[in-house]
Amino acid sequence: MAVKKIDKKAKKRIEKKVEKKVEKKVEKKVEKKAKKKIERKIDAKKRFAKKELERYRQKLLAERERILRELGRIAEAINESAEEQEAAKQSYSNHLADISTDYMEKEKNYYYADQEGQYLKAIEAAIERINRGEYGQCIECGDLISEKRLEAVPAAELCISCKDKKEKLERGGR
Ligand SMILES: [Zn+2]
Repeated sequence: MAVKKIDKKAKKRIEKKVEKKVEKKVEKKVEKKAKKKIERKIDAKKRFAKKELERYRQKLLAERERILRELGRIAEAINESAEEQEAAKQSYSNHLADISTDYMEKEKNYYYADQEGQYLKAIEAAIERINRGEYGQCIECGDLISEKRLEAVPAAELCISCKDKKEKLERGGR
């Protein structure tokens, strides 16, 4: 009987200890989460200086000009090949191979125009973010995107780690 009592006491003591440990662990986790939240809020306030933002704006505007010129050139090429195709149809002189080359050229140009169009949208969105004073902040986590990355990809809206995460998800991994 006495042995059982001691057993019970010991059991209770161990249970209490385990409980306390679990409690502490949960507390620590909650604390960490709260800390991260606060840190994130502080990060969200991080901004580039006005001078820096203006520099990026000039860069983005120049890039926008370049794309618009490029899109104009592609549109011209599409028109030209359409005219050529029309002329070929009328004269029957063009070799079938030439017509199919023209067709492929046209398809390529459409694809290219689509790509450039999407890039143009990204550039314009980045200019909008400059106007709102949010440029350079990752739209996912709020951290500042590194200047190195913005120099290479001025229209970037994700920091490198969020971009990697997104790409991994898109690839189906986790
Ligand atoms: Zn991020």
